[in-house]
Amino acid sequence: MSLAVESTWSFDDINLCGLSLSGIRTSIALPQLSLCFDVAQGFPFQFHLKRYFISHGHLDHAAGIPYLISQKAMTSLPTPNFYMPVSLVNPLQEIMKIWQKVEGHEYQFNFHAVEPGHIIEIDPRHFVRPFSTVHRIDSLGYTVFKKTKKLKPEFRDRSETELMQLRKQGQIIQDEREVPMVSFTGDTQIEFLFKEDWIRKSKILIMEATYLDDSKTIEHARKWGHTHLDEILQHLDEIESERIVLIHTSSRYSFQRALEILKERIPSRHAERVILFPGR
Ligand SMILES: [Zn+2]
Ligand SMILES: [Zn+2]
Repeated sequence: MSLAVESTWSFDDINLCGLSLSGIRTSIALPQLSLCFDVAQGFPFQFHLKRYFISHGHLDHAAGIPYLISQKAMTSLPTPNFYMPVSLVNPLQEIMKIWQKVEGHEYQFNFHAVEPGHIIEIDPRHFVRPFSTVHRIDSLGYTVFKKTKKLKPEFRDRSETELMQLRKQGQIIQDEREVPMVSFTGDTQIEFLFKEDWIRKSKILIMEATYLDDSKTIEHARKWGHTHLDEILQHLDEIESERIVLIHTSSRYSFQRALEILKERIPSRHAERVILFPGR
C-alpha cells in the first residue's frame, strides 16, 4: 500500500511536490533544497525535509506542524526548523507543550519568527526571503533566491588564461546576481503581487487562485482574503514569471472542471505559462 498522496510537477531543474485544495490542505515541497511551503495536516513526503516555511496559521496550511515534530521525535532526523509570522510563534509553543504532555515524548524543534526583509540562508547558493501577503490573519509569502555569477561584459573577450591572471591580481571579473527562482503565496488577496518587484519576476510563481469563475464574485474572494481568477487575468501581462502555478482552488471545482475553466479563460498567449498544480 502506498502512503503517497502528493503529486509532482517540474520545470527546468525545479521540482515541486505536494498538494493544495482550498480549506482542505496546502503544502508544496522543493525536495532538492529540503524545504517545504506550508505543511497541510502533515504527510510522509515532508518527513525528511529540514526547513518548513509557514504562510499563516489556518489549519489547512499549518495543522501538520505538531505531527511533523512528533514524527521526528521518534527518529534520529535533524531538528526541524519552522519559519512563520511573528504572532504565530507563542501560540504554537503553547500547543507544542500540550502535545508533548499528551504524547510523553521529548520534542526537538526550532520556531523562527520571520518578517519581510529577513534572509534565511539555505546553502551557499540559495536563500529565502519572506514577503508581505494580505489575508484575514498575519500571513507571509516566501521566495527562494539563487545566487549566480556572470562574467562582467568588459571581460567577455578574454581568454581563460587572461581571466586567471586577472583573478590572481585580485580583480573582480564577475557580477553576482540574486535570481528569484520560486515564490509561494499561501492565502492572500491579489495585492501581494505589488509588494516587491521580485515576486512578479520569479521564474516560478506559485500563487493562490481560490475562485475561478462567476459562481463567486471578486468581492466574495476579497472578503475572505483570497484571490479570484478575474483579478489574475487583469495582471497577467505584468507578471514576468516563466510559469504561474495556481494552487488553493476551491473544492467547488473538480480538477477537470478547473482545467476546463482555465482553458476557456486564459488568453492563448499566456496559456503555456499558467499551470494548475496537479496535486489536490
Ligand atoms: Zn487556505
Ligand atoms: Zn487562510
